[in-house]
Formats: sequence, C-alpha cells, structure tokens
Amino acid sequence: MRGGDTVIFLEGVINERTELNGIFKDIDTGTLIINLKGVTRINSCGVRDWVNAAKPLAGKFRIIYEHCSRAIVEQLNMIVNFLNSGTIVSFYAPYYCDACEAEHEMLLDIAQHFTDSADSDEPEAPDFDCPQCGKTMEFNEDEDKYLSFLTE
Ligand SMILES: [Zn+2]
Repeated sequence: MRGGDTVIFLEGVINERTELNGIFKDIDTGTLIINLKGVTRINSCGVRDWVNAAKPLAGKFRIIYEHCSRAIVEQLNMIVNFLNSGTIVSFYAPYYCDACEAEHEMLLDIAQHFTDSADSDEPEAPDFDCPQCGKTMEFNEDEDKYLSFLTE
C-alpha cells in the first residue's frame, strides 16, 4: 500500500504458465499501481492473459503502470492494446556511456521528460549523465522505434 493506493510488483517471466487472475482478488477500490520493473520477459500468451485479467478491472480502478522494463516496452511497441486499460507513467531505457564503455538503464518519467513532445509525432529521449563518471550518455536503441508507443 502507498497512501491508500495498492502497489503490485510483477517480476520475472510472464507467459502462459503465469497465474495473473489471483493477484487482483483482494483489491476493491482506489488506484492500482502496477510496477513492472522486474519483468524480464513477456511473451504473446502472457500479453493476452494480462489483457484479459486487466479488462474487468478497468471500470473498477484507476490502473497506473510504472517502471515498465525493456521487455514491457518492446511489447508496448508491438501490441497496441496491451496496456490500454491503464496509464503508463514511467519506463526504462538503455543508455550507453562511451567513457565507461558500459550500458545503464535509466528511468524515464513521461510527465517529467516528455512534456514538450507530448503532442509531437517524434518524442525525444532526454539526456542523462553517466551515473559512474558524469559524462553525457547516448540513447542505446533506435530512439524512434523504442519511443513509438508514446505517440499511440
Ligand atoms: Zn561513464
């Protein structure tokens, strides 16, 4: 619980063997925050089951998806209705530091980092400094492709 809201953390692999229906059973009101940071993989069966499990909830709660992992973002960009039952507020994206020759996953907050591009067809990823050395990092994916779910 977080200030009256319910927070659910999903972790690991979501596929046809994942039992999703049970996780909603003790929740009856308010805002449901679903943290997807720990989802390492989700396949098409997992997406289908998720959509079916979340559908009846859409009228009952406000559903917020936060900390969407890269596996989730990849599905967001392939399957349009995946999270249409709720609102996505933040997600992870890969950045690369040339100086450290290392990749860092950074948390992007949609309200904070994409205010200017909210109405734009081409959202621009924010700059981040390397958490290790402080140098500016580069976005380490095809930016247009990775951020395409923001324009849907
Ligand atoms: Zn660095």
